[in-house]
Amino acid sequence: MNKAIVIGAGFGGIASALRLRAKGYSVQIIDKCERLGGRAQVFEREGYKFDAGPTVITAPFLFNELFELFDKSREDYVEFKAVNPWYQFYFADGTRFNYGGSIENTLNEIAKFNPEDQKGYLDLVKKSQEIFDVGFTQLSDKPFHSVWSMLRQIPALLKLRSDRTVWQLVSRHISNEKLRQAFSVQPLLVGGNPFNTTSIYNLIHFLERKWGIHFAMGGTGALVDALGKLMTEVGIEIKLGTEVRQLVVEGKQITKAVLADNSEVEADIFISNADPLHLYRNMLSSRSSNLLAKLKTKRAKLSMGLFVLYFGTTKKYADVEHHTIWLGKRYKALLRDIFQGDSLPDDFSLYVHRPTATDPSFAPDGHDSFYVLAPVPNLKANIDWRAEGPVLMKRIIDALERTILPDLKKHIVHEFYMNPEDFQREYLSEAGAGFSIAPLFSQSAWFRFHNRGEGPSNLYVSGAGTHPGAGLPGVISSAKVVDRLVPSPIRQVETTQPREVEVGV
Ligand SMILES: Cc1cc2nc3c(=O)[nH]c(=O)nc-3n(C[C@H](O)[C@H](O)[C@H](O)COP(=O)(O)OP(=O)(O)OC[C@H]3O[C@@H](n4cnc5c(N)ncnc54)[C@H](O)[C@@H]3O)c2cc1C
Repeated sequence: MNKAIVIGAGFGGIASALRLRAKGYSVQIIDKCERLGGRAQVFEREGYKFDAGPTVITAPFLFNELFELFDKSREDYVEFKAVNPWYQFYFADGTRFNYGGSIENTLNEIAKFNPEDQKGYLDLVKKSQEIFDVGFTQLSDKPFHSVWSMLRQIPALLKLRSDRTVWQLVSRHISNEKLRQAFSVQPLLVGGNPFNTTSIYNLIHFLERKWGIHFAMGGTGALVDALGKLMTEVGIEIKLGTEVRQLVVEGKQITKAVLADNSEVEADIFISNADPLHLYRNMLSSRSSNLLAKLKTKRAKLSMGLFVLYFGTTKKYADVEHHTIWLGKRYKALLRDIFQGDSLPDDFSLYVHRPTATDPSFAPDGHDSFYVLAPVPNLKANIDWRAEGPVLMKRIIDALERTILPDLKKHIVHEFYMNPEDFQREYLSEAGAGFSIAPLFSQSAWFRFHNRGEGPSNLYVSGAGTHPGAGLPGVISSAKVVDRLVPSPIRQVETTQPREVEVGV
């Protein structure tokens, strides 16, 4: 058992490839995109640079570990810079809430909205830590493919009241409406509606508190490049611009992957970093997956779609923070329209990214580079994106000009956007969803797609649709689970920096 193929070079795929290489496999990673990184692509337009996807780095140790597998140091490849405030919330009435830094900083900000919520915030942090100690520390990198692994956790999950939603938990501790919104947005970062996402995801709150929020200098694209360099150094073969169309199963094992040009690649182990819905629906024949995978595929509830607008400005908006969460007038009703509606709402809430606040290399001198993300319904809704896309772009630019980016229309350059149809086409993401299946309790842990493939015995799955879930810490942890599950190779292939590995299955 020697060769492993990783299908998909998102962060979950890259982390899997590195872990299997360190384990002693010969590894090839294949992706249909022309660049590594999956959703973390990079766009460049005449001196302006845009990270296409993830921008917020949390839990930096998870990245460091990938370099340490080969006795290397992440700091020698890419610099992480702490960002403060972590986010600025901008509310529809023009008020702003700076979130981040020390607990005292946050308490002082809370006092501006409602001093009585200061005590509640301390309780919320304590509760988030309790959830984090179980949900992240104990469970995020452990396999959940056996029903016993789930049953064993039920008492702990009940004790933590995982049946409560993020919104319910936050509302128990915080009474000010705006603060409730600010402290409940985290599920949106992994594709969930705070009003039905299990409060287990409140662990993100403590994750941010524990390690802060960082930016990779040069952007997330620079982090991807650093991991690409590491992969090359340790002998991982990278094949880009190539889609894997089918996985051929003989007996109980996958024997080869069929590529878009009909050529075939054989291997002993296959790791899919594709959206599991695409994997089980389109890459495997229906005979090859088990009943559980079929059920999960049929009943899947997807995350929302994303409309991401990229643009440069010929001036600097120095008073706009690195990360702004721009909230519209409606919160609960807007989220309902996004997650359950059949059409594009007229209004929106936005995440505004201004990387030039931390790293001027993203734009020419004295200019800014921006990306603005609006959660929107995924392609299950009846939206004609060709007609609606330009209208939404105009509405977003108008709203930003009226609020945090005065004179935007005079200064905007190189504007373009991605809509859910682009996500479907570029990343083979089911219904163009931004984060694969939603983080509902009924789609978490054992109920989520398993990291041990649900069908062929030599298939493993990492990435947003698998345990523990979406977001960079989630998908990198999913590769750790895969590492635990994949047997050591029978014969190891030398890496440039060999690591001690157990021999034998
Ligand atoms: C706009 C946006 C902003 C985000 N912001 C953040 C953030 O700030 N912080 C954070 O932690 N998370 C963020 N996320 C979430 C995070 O980016 C994702 O959850 C994570 O990157 C997904 O990684 P993945 O391993 O699932 O792979 P993906 O990124 O989904 O990549 C999978 C790759 O596999 C390829 N592929 C699929 N099928 C095949 C096939 N058959 N053959 C070949 N290739 C195939 C796809 O083309 C793709 O390149 C954001 C996501 C988006 C979209």
